[in-house]
Amino acid sequence: MDKNTLLQVWPIPAFDDNYIWRIHDGSAALVVDPGDAGPVLKYLERNKLSLSGILITHHHADHTGGILNLLEALGSDLPVYGPVGDGIPGRAVVAMQDDKIEIPSPRISLKVIEVPGHTLTHIAYFANMQANVVEPMLFCGDTLFASGCGRLFEGTPTQMSESLGKFASLPKNTLVYCTHEYTLSNIRFALAVEPNNLNLISWSDRAHSLRNQKLPTLPTTIGQELQVNPFMRCDQPEVIAMAKEVSGQDQLPTTAHVLAVIRAWKDRF
Ligand SMILES: [Zn+2]
Repeated sequence: MDKNTLLQVWPIPAFDDNYIWRIHDGSAALVVDPGDAGPVLKYLERNKLSLSGILITHHHADHTGGILNLLEALGSDLPVYGPVGDGIPGRAVVAMQDDKIEIPSPRISLKVIEVPGHTLTHIAYFANMQANVVEPMLFCGDTLFASGCGRLFEGTPTQMSESLGKFASLPKNTLVYCTHEYTLSNIRFALAVEPNNLNLISWSDRAHSLRNQKLPTLPTTIGQELQVNPFMRCDQPEVIAMAKEVSGQDQLPTTAHVLAVIRAWKDRF
Protein backbone atom coordinates (compact mmCIF):
# COMPACT_ATOMS: atom_id res chain seq x y z
CA MET A 1 0.00 0.00 0.00
CA ASP A 2 1.36 3.40 -1.01
CA LYS A 3 1.88 5.35 2.19
CA ASN A 4 0.31 8.39 0.53
CA THR A 5 -2.96 6.66 -0.34
CA LEU A 6 -5.65 9.10 0.73
CA LEU A 7 -7.22 8.12 4.03
CA GLN A 8 -10.90 7.35 4.02
CA VAL A 9 -13.23 7.82 6.94
CA TRP A 10 -16.52 5.94 7.18
CA PRO A 11 -19.05 5.46 9.93
CA ILE A 12 -19.89 2.06 11.35
CA PRO A 13 -23.35 2.44 12.87
CA ALA A 14 -23.78 0.97 16.36
CA PHE A 15 -26.60 0.88 18.91
CA ASP A 16 -29.44 3.30 18.00
CA ASP A 17 -27.54 6.36 16.87
CA ASN A 18 -23.79 5.92 17.54
CA TYR A 19 -21.20 6.15 14.81
CA ILE A 20 -17.90 4.31 15.25
CA TRP A 21 -15.59 6.14 12.81
CA ARG A 22 -13.16 4.02 10.90
CA ILE A 23 -10.06 5.64 9.34
CA HIS A 24 -8.37 3.46 6.76
CA ASP A 25 -5.96 3.40 3.82
CA GLY A 26 -7.48 0.38 2.10
CA SER A 27 -5.65 -2.17 4.22
CA ALA A 28 -5.11 -0.91 7.78
CA ALA A 29 -7.75 0.80 9.90
CA LEU A 30 -8.13 2.73 13.13
CA VAL A 31 -11.45 2.98 14.91
CA VAL A 32 -12.68 5.77 17.13
CA ASP A 33 -14.84 5.00 20.19
CA PRO A 34 -15.87 1.39 19.53
CA GLY A 35 -18.76 1.04 21.97
CA ASP A 36 -19.54 -2.35 20.48
CA ALA A 37 -17.04 -4.81 18.96
CA GLY A 38 -19.50 -6.80 16.84
CA PRO A 39 -20.18 -4.27 14.07
CA VAL A 40 -16.46 -3.36 13.93
CA LEU A 41 -15.33 -6.96 13.50
CA LYS A 42 -17.96 -7.50 10.82
CA TYR A 43 -16.85 -4.39 8.92
CA LEU A 44 -13.17 -5.30 9.11
CA GLU A 45 -13.85 -8.77 7.80
CA ARG A 46 -16.18 -7.67 5.02
CA ASN A 47 -13.73 -5.00 3.82
CA LYS A 48 -10.58 -7.07 4.40
CA LEU A 49 -9.06 -4.48 6.72
CA SER A 50 -6.76 -5.10 9.66
CA LEU A 51 -7.21 -3.04 12.80
CA SER A 52 -4.04 -1.22 13.88
CA GLY A 53 -5.27 0.90 16.79
CA ILE A 54 -8.18 2.26 18.82
CA LEU A 55 -8.75 5.92 19.67
CA ILE A 56 -11.00 6.73 22.65
CA THR A 57 -12.39 10.21 23.37
CA HIS A 58 -14.02 9.62 26.77
CA HIS A 59 -15.00 6.95 29.26
CA HIS A 60 -18.73 6.46 28.54
CA ALA A 61 -19.68 2.84 27.91
CA ASP A 62 -21.20 3.48 24.49
CA HIS A 63 -17.69 4.61 23.41
CA THR A 64 -15.55 2.06 25.23
CA GLY A 65 -17.70 -1.08 25.58
CA GLY A 66 -16.14 -2.88 22.61
CA ILE A 67 -12.46 -2.36 23.47
CA LEU A 68 -11.80 -5.57 25.40
CA ASN A 69 -13.65 -7.75 22.90
CA LEU A 70 -11.64 -6.20 20.05
CA LEU A 71 -8.38 -6.83 21.93
CA GLU A 72 -9.46 -10.38 22.62
CA ALA A 73 -10.41 -11.03 19.00
CA LEU A 74 -7.55 -9.18 17.29
CA GLY A 75 -4.63 -9.22 19.71
CA SER A 76 -3.98 -7.67 23.07
CA ASP A 77 -1.01 -5.69 21.71
CA LEU A 78 -3.33 -3.43 19.70
CA PRO A 79 -2.61 0.12 20.94
CA VAL A 80 -5.52 1.84 22.70
CA TYR A 81 -5.19 5.63 23.07
CA GLY A 82 -7.41 7.46 25.52
CA PRO A 83 -7.66 10.24 28.08
CA VAL A 84 -6.38 10.09 31.64
CA GLY A 85 -8.67 8.62 34.31
CA ASP A 86 -10.70 5.51 34.98
CA GLY A 87 -13.16 3.69 32.76
CA ILE A 88 -11.05 3.00 29.68
CA PRO A 89 -10.24 -0.72 29.73
CA GLY A 90 -7.13 -1.76 27.82
CA ARG A 91 -5.82 1.80 27.43
CA ALA A 92 -2.12 1.59 26.62
CA VAL A 93 -1.35 5.26 25.95
CA VAL A 94 -2.64 8.22 27.98
CA ALA A 95 -3.20 11.12 25.59
CA MET A 96 -2.80 14.69 26.90
CA GLN A 97 -3.23 18.19 25.45
CA ASP A 98 -0.88 18.82 22.50
CA ASP A 99 0.41 15.24 22.44
CA LYS A 100 1.30 14.14 18.92
CA ILE A 101 0.23 10.63 18.07
CA GLU A 102 2.10 9.24 15.07
CA ILE A 103 0.48 6.11 13.72
CA PRO A 104 2.49 4.24 11.08
CA SER A 105 -0.36 2.33 9.44
CA PRO A 106 -2.64 3.81 8.29
CA ARG A 107 -0.10 6.62 8.35
CA ILE A 108 -1.58 9.56 10.21
CA SER A 109 -0.40 12.23 12.61
CA LEU A 110 -2.95 13.28 15.22
CA LYS A 111 -2.86 16.10 17.75
CA VAL A 112 -4.67 15.69 21.06
CA ILE A 113 -6.97 18.49 22.26
CA GLU A 114 -8.36 18.37 25.80
CA VAL A 115 -12.03 19.39 25.75
CA PRO A 116 -13.61 19.04 29.21
CA GLY A 117 -17.35 19.59 29.53
CA HIS A 118 -19.31 16.47 28.60
CA THR A 119 -16.85 14.61 30.87
CA LEU A 120 -13.94 16.15 32.75
CA THR A 121 -11.21 14.28 30.87
CA HIS A 122 -12.75 14.26 27.39
CA ILE A 123 -10.25 14.59 24.53
CA ALA A 124 -10.51 15.08 20.77
CA TYR A 125 -8.12 14.02 18.00
CA PHE A 126 -7.20 16.49 15.26
CA ALA A 127 -5.46 15.58 12.00
CA ASN A 128 -4.20 18.59 10.09
CA MET A 129 -3.53 18.38 6.35
CA GLN A 130 -0.77 15.86 5.56
CA ALA A 131 0.38 13.72 2.64
CA ASN A 132 -2.72 11.52 2.75
CA VAL A 133 -5.18 13.95 4.41
CA VAL A 134 -6.60 16.56 2.03
CA GLU A 135 -8.86 18.33 4.53
CA PRO A 136 -8.21 18.56 8.28
CA MET A 137 -10.22 16.13 10.39
CA LEU A 138 -11.52 16.31 13.94
CA PHE A 139 -12.76 13.35 15.98
CA CYS A 140 -14.63 15.14 18.72
CA GLY A 141 -16.52 12.39 20.59
CA ASP A 142 -19.54 13.75 22.45
CA THR A 143 -18.26 17.33 22.78
CA LEU A 144 -19.59 18.79 19.54
CA PHE A 145 -22.52 17.49 17.48
CA ALA A 146 -23.91 18.77 14.22
CA SER A 147 -25.98 21.77 15.39
CA GLY A 148 -25.54 20.82 19.05
CA CYS A 149 -23.13 19.93 21.86
CA GLY A 150 -22.81 17.20 24.47
CA ARG A 151 -24.64 17.27 27.77
CA LEU A 152 -22.64 18.58 30.71
CA PHE A 153 -22.44 15.39 32.76
CA GLU A 154 -19.25 16.34 34.59
CA GLY A 155 -17.96 19.71 33.43
CA THR A 156 -19.16 23.30 33.70
CA PRO A 157 -20.57 25.64 31.07
CA THR A 158 -17.31 27.57 31.24
CA GLN A 159 -15.31 24.44 30.44
CA MET A 160 -17.61 23.54 27.54
CA SER A 161 -17.47 27.10 26.24
CA GLU A 162 -13.65 27.00 26.28
CA SER A 163 -13.61 23.55 24.67
CA LEU A 164 -15.88 24.69 21.84
CA GLY A 165 -13.66 27.77 21.56
CA LYS A 166 -10.70 25.48 20.84
CA PHE A 167 -12.69 23.87 18.03
CA ALA A 168 -13.75 27.28 16.70
CA SER A 169 -10.10 28.19 16.16
CA LEU A 170 -9.45 25.16 13.92
CA PRO A 171 -9.47 25.66 10.13
CA LYS A 172 -13.01 26.29 8.83
CA ASN A 173 -12.80 23.36 6.39
CA THR A 174 -12.03 20.87 9.18
CA LEU A 175 -14.29 17.84 8.78
CA VAL A 176 -15.95 17.07 12.10
CA TYR A 177 -16.71 13.44 12.89
CA CYS A 178 -19.23 13.43 15.74
CA THR A 179 -20.18 10.17 17.43
CA HIS A 180 -23.99 10.40 17.36
CA GLU A 181 -26.64 11.02 14.73
CA TYR A 182 -28.51 13.64 16.78
CA THR A 183 -28.69 16.19 13.98
CA LEU A 184 -32.43 16.48 13.33
CA SER A 185 -33.38 16.90 16.99
CA ASN A 186 -30.48 19.35 17.42
CA ILE A 187 -31.74 21.35 14.45
CA ARG A 188 -35.24 21.49 15.95
CA PHE A 189 -33.76 23.07 19.07
CA ALA A 190 -31.37 25.33 17.13
CA LEU A 191 -34.35 26.72 15.21
CA ALA A 192 -36.04 27.55 18.53
CA VAL A 193 -32.92 29.53 19.51
CA GLU A 194 -32.44 31.21 16.10
CA PRO A 195 -35.68 31.05 14.11
CA ASN A 196 -34.34 33.62 11.63
CA ASN A 197 -30.97 32.00 10.86
CA LEU A 198 -31.16 31.44 7.09
CA ASN A 199 -28.12 29.13 7.04
CA LEU A 200 -29.80 27.00 9.67
CA ILE A 201 -33.10 26.90 7.77
CA SER A 202 -31.41 25.67 4.59
CA TRP A 203 -29.27 23.19 6.59
CA SER A 204 -32.49 21.84 8.12
CA ASP A 205 -33.82 21.08 4.61
CA ARG A 206 -30.57 19.36 3.58
CA ALA A 207 -30.34 17.33 6.79
CA HIS A 208 -33.94 16.12 6.51
CA SER A 209 -33.32 15.09 2.93
CA LEU A 210 -30.19 13.12 3.96
CA ARG A 211 -32.04 11.35 6.77
CA ASN A 212 -34.97 10.55 4.46
CA GLN A 213 -32.42 8.72 2.31
CA LYS A 214 -31.02 7.04 5.48
CA LEU A 215 -27.69 8.80 4.93
CA PRO A 216 -25.54 10.21 7.76
CA THR A 217 -25.65 13.99 8.21
CA LEU A 218 -21.98 13.81 9.15
CA PRO A 219 -19.25 14.80 8.89
CA THR A 220 -20.02 18.44 9.41
CA THR A 221 -17.37 21.19 9.28
CA ILE A 222 -16.18 23.81 11.74
CA GLY A 223 -17.24 26.54 9.29
CA GLN A 224 -20.73 25.09 9.04
CA GLU A 225 -21.10 24.80 12.83
CA LEU A 226 -20.04 28.42 13.29
CA GLN A 227 -23.00 29.31 11.07
CA VAL A 228 -25.72 27.03 12.45
CA ASN A 229 -24.81 25.68 15.90
CA PRO A 230 -26.20 27.80 18.76
CA PHE A 231 -23.56 26.43 21.16
CA MET A 232 -20.83 27.75 18.84
CA ARG A 233 -22.72 31.05 18.44
CA CYS A 234 -23.05 32.22 22.04
CA ASP A 235 -21.48 35.55 21.00
CA GLN A 236 -24.17 36.27 18.40
CA PRO A 237 -26.80 38.94 19.18
CA GLU A 238 -29.81 36.73 18.31
CA VAL A 239 -28.55 33.88 20.53
CA ILE A 240 -27.75 36.25 23.40
CA ALA A 241 -31.18 37.92 23.11
CA MET A 242 -32.97 34.56 23.15
CA ALA A 243 -30.92 33.36 26.14
CA LYS A 244 -31.88 36.53 28.03
CA GLU A 245 -35.53 36.06 27.16
CA VAL A 246 -35.60 32.37 28.14
CA SER A 247 -33.73 32.89 31.42
CA GLY A 248 -35.33 36.21 32.38
CA GLN A 249 -31.82 37.53 33.09
CA ASP A 250 -30.93 40.90 31.62
CA GLN A 251 -27.17 40.41 32.07
CA LEU A 252 -25.33 37.47 30.50
CA PRO A 253 -21.81 38.92 30.49
CA THR A 254 -19.88 36.07 28.89
CA THR A 255 -20.40 33.41 26.22
CA ALA A 256 -20.22 30.83 29.04
CA HIS A 257 -23.26 32.47 30.71
CA VAL A 258 -25.15 32.30 27.40
CA LEU A 259 -24.10 28.67 26.87
CA ALA A 260 -25.25 27.76 30.40
CA VAL A 261 -28.74 29.10 29.64
CA ILE A 262 -29.18 27.42 26.27
CA ARG A 263 -27.64 24.11 27.44
CA ALA A 264 -30.11 24.02 30.39
CA TRP A 265 -32.93 24.90 27.98
CA LYS A 266 -31.90 22.10 25.61
CA ASP A 267 -31.86 19.61 28.52
CA ARG A 268 -35.58 20.19 29.07
CA PHE A 269 -36.53 20.91 25.42
ZN1 LIG B 1 -20.63 10.44 26.23
